[in-house]
Amino acid sequence: MTAVHPGRRTAGAVLAVLALFGLLAALTGCGGAAHKAARPAADPAVQQLLDRHAAAVRQHDQRAFLAGVDPRSTRFLAAQRQMFGNLAQVPLADWSYRLVRTGAFPLPPEAGAGDGTRRTAAEVQLRYRLSGYDAQPVVSTSYLTFTERSGHWYVAADDDGESAGKRSAVQLWDQGKVTVVRGAHSLVLGLGDTGTLRGYADDADQAVPQVQHAWGRAGWPGTVVIEAPKTLDQLGALLAADPAGYQDIAAVTTGELGGSAQAPADRVIVNPAAFGKLSAFGRQVVLTHETTHVATRLATTASTPLWLSEGFADWVAYRDAGRTAPEIAPELAHDVDAGHLPAALPTAADFRPTSSDLAQAYEGGWLACRMVADQWSPDRLTALYRTAGTGATLDSVLRSGLDLSPAGFTARWRTYVQQELG
Ligand SMILES: [Zn+2]
Repeated sequence: MTAVHPGRRTAGAVLAVLALFGLLAALTGCGGAAHKAARPAADPAVQQLLDRHAAAVRQHDQRAFLAGVDPRSTRFLAAQRQMFGNLAQVPLADWSYRLVRTGAFPLPPEAGAGDGTRRTAAEVQLRYRLSGYDAQPVVSTSYLTFTERSGHWYVAADDDGESAGKRSAVQLWDQGKVTVVRGAHSLVLGLGDTGTLRGYADDADQAVPQVQHAWGRAGWPGTVVIEAPKTLDQLGALLAADPAGYQDIAAVTTGELGGSAQAPADRVIVNPAAFGKLSAFGRQVVLTHETTHVATRLATTASTPLWLSEGFADWVAYRDAGRTAPEIAPELAHDVDAGHLPAALPTAADFRPTSSDLAQAYEGGWLACRMVADQWSPDRLTALYRTAGTGATLDSVLRSGLDLSPAGFTARWRTYVQQELG
């Protein structure tokens, strides 16, 4: 059969990218602008401007919003006008900005220096929630230039920090007009045509009950928010990642590993080109897999092995597929045919997007979870998943859950792989 899912990025991998980006930003932090004692501190005035700016978004008041943008920054002003329009359909429960710090990056030399304009370079956090869908906000960081003239502060640019590696996070509405489609269990925000977005909502609506059947309803809202950019470059920008690595990835889930009910909201982001090449079955598998990540988020932590989180998502997605193991795991079946039975469970490195054994890693994880569900029970599998996220060692997770040592579990899995795929 044709490849069902040309790889699915692990939530962990996406997080690694985002976390690394944040770390680089912290490492390259630079000193603030020269201190001018004679003038009042910028911070309270900038925060007040941000509060007015946020209120204008919440109240759909374009005039008030644009009044906060520097009229001399004509290109930025036009982009902000566009962005405000792009956001019009998005159902916002909340939208706010927090000034994290001024002096966040070195400003480029001033064009009209000496005209009395004061400038400051700030790190600003946007927090927003989608009405009816997000219990917690999505948080994103921007690097903004603010200007002051005659006592008025304005936002003047969002890209002056780029040369210092301070790139403002990109949201879908920065990329184009957002169309909103509502499903029974889903909300789709997209840049494409309504018909395509309706298709995503329909697929997600089928995925959610499947995930609830496997994982239950507790601990997640039972809905999924999908974002659909139009191009691969837009997908890369949304993820702050090199788009080349995502060419064959049909969809990714962003979000923070759980352990806390305060973890930010999740988004499933579809790569339209790769997703569009999938069969109906393939689309269903991908969205059920990603929705499983959303549902299990709070039970998934840094101690959850990737073979378990990715394998579980695939187990849910393929559970009622009615296909044989070699059909679902063709790459690993090929290896086993060639006499290469894996020696160990897939490691975190095997799940890196650049890994040559990425497909085998997913397939091996899927079979490990399927084995637990088949030889013990589906309930035992979900219990194992929950225990693994508590920070317990894998040794204690496997011993308490299955009465096996890691070596014993691996041996049993190898036998199972051989038997199912050989
Ligand atoms: Zn995944």
